[in-house]
Amino acid sequence: MYCYSCKKYKPLDNFSKSQRAKANPSTNGNESRGKMASCQLCTPPTNSELTCSLCEKTKSLKEFAKNQRKFHDLARCLDCMYELHTEGEVQRAMDLQYKEVAEMAEYVEEF
Ligand SMILES: [Zn+2]
Ligand SMILES: [Zn+2]
Repeated sequence: MYCYSCKKYKPLDNFSKSQRAKANPSTNGNESRGKMASCQLCTPPTNSELTCSLCEKTKSLKEFAKNQRKFHDLARCLDCMYELHTEGEVQRAMDLQYKEVAEMAEYVEEF
């Protein structure tokens, strides 16, 4: 069977059932005719785990935000996202405090 991703003919074993069905209209009605199949090497892993690019822990997909799942090499788990987020919050809070202090200093100078 032909893989449209790596552009090679590969044994059927290298294709998942869904990819085989895609390429073979007879198993799936006429609608899928001409759909491009790709071998398992070219198909992103559909297993339920991802490795976080920050803490380098392998976690289940549940631990990743949906929009992170497509970044297979750069995915960040929710823990790391949360940490980044709170770090950002802390930074913003510190900036605000700094502004307030600066404003107060100005205020004091006026009097
Ligand atoms: Zn391929
Ligand atoms: Zn992480």
